[in-house]
Amino acid sequence: MPNKLIYSIFSFLSVAGLSSAASAIQLCGQPAQGEILQGRADNISRIVMDGKDIRLSPQGNFLIVFGRDETSPKQFAAATSSGEVIPLSVDVNKTAWDVQSLKGVPPRKVTPSDSDLRDIEREQKLVRAGQAENTATPYWQKGFIQPVEGRISGNFGGQRIMNGIKKNPHSGMDIAVPEGIPVKASSDGIVTLAANDLFYSGNVIIVDHGYGLHTVYAHLKEISVKQGDSVKKGDIIALSGKTGRVTGPHLHWGASYNGIKFNPKSLLSLGKSNDLCFNL
Ligand SMILES: [Zn+2]
Repeated sequence: MPNKLIYSIFSFLSVAGLSSAASAIQLCGQPAQGEILQGRADNISRIVMDGKDIRLSPQGNFLIVFGRDETSPKQFAAATSSGEVIPLSVDVNKTAWDVQSLKGVPPRKVTPSDSDLRDIEREQKLVRAGQAENTATPYWQKGFIQPVEGRISGNFGGQRIMNGIKKNPHSGMDIAVPEGIPVKASSDGIVTLAANDLFYSGNVIIVDHGYGLHTVYAHLKEISVKQGDSVKKGDIIALSGKTGRVTGPHLHWGASYNGIKFNPKSLLSLGKSNDLCFNL
């Protein structure tokens, strides 16, 4: 984002540049495409990225995500409590996405019919609505676990070729498990979607972890929670299955922040170590 635009977002405030002494911003995590990072802001009242306010906890904790195709450097801005604007910039490393060639996908799930397209539209609306909330409770501060253990059969971001046809990049991480394995909530949160028989996801759950962060659990055999339920990290919310667009039983684990999909694997190290922290 050009600095001109950053300043215009804060046009009602005075612009002071980088000299504000007592304010500081730290980020912890991998500054790379598809990653989530935890931040800590001291004496900062607002952070704006891509024209949107990023939610700050009373202690100054916040999250930022770099999308799969994020360009570098990522420019954004913060405002101090006294109204000074600080332009910020992070170099975002490129991630090498793999190419996944899948054969044996049911042809209808690769080239949908007209009536399938209506089902797909309905699914997209439900999934978008399930990830729309920006709840004020920072459930995510509890940290995250992987919902099932197993071989990773598909990485986030992989370019997918299904039955020889190029499709959208993979929006989550696939963990190969047989049917009927207990699936755990990866952190505390509120269930915002518990739906059956969706075209791609099959039986699917979305959990809201606060601040715009959500996780997705797809292709389930059986769902044991309903919309509005509170869940705790490690609670069993479903059994694994092979519903929706699959070539075999597995759990598709997805994650999004303010609607931006990212690699759920990066949640596992969120807030766990200071080794990856750097100051802006
Ligand atoms: Zn998947």
